[in-house]
Amino acid sequence: MRTITHLVVHCTATPKHTTIASIRRYWKEALGWKSVGYHKIIEATGNIVTLAEDSKVTNGVAGHNSTSLHVSYIGGKDTDDRSIGQRQAIAGVLLEWLKKYPTARICGHRDFAGVTKDCPRFSAEKEYGYLYLTAAGTPSQEG
Ligand SMILES: [Zn+2]
Repeated sequence: MRTITHLVVHCTATPKHTTIASIRRYWKEALGWKSVGYHKIIEATGNIVTLAEDSKVTNGVAGHNSTSLHVSYIGGKDTDDRSIGQRQAIAGVLLEWLKKYPTARICGHRDFAGVTKDCPRFSAEKEYGYLYLTAAGTPSQEG
């Protein structure tokens, strides 16, 4: 298993009903990426779609991908427009990851040095930092 040091939250910076198919097409055709941008992506309904297994390296934050896992909500074009379902789904994904990688830190894309874009448009550690305690107090599903 690779060493995971960061659990990174993103927004797609698109309108909130943008389809996953069109986002994947953009990565492949416009950016020329061979891999996807995130491990998990969360639709406006709060539905979580896995795009890559944890073991795979994705294209979330240049220079940090080998040690990171990435989750993104669809939206965030101009503001933090997460639905309640998306807020909860992000927490669910981060909690599962924290149980598997208890030493990893929750952060936003914008928290990395040199990043100028406001992704995911809110402070991920401030909002989801309580999950460290939740994860530590809950036995792992993995046993
Ligand atoms: Zn991002």
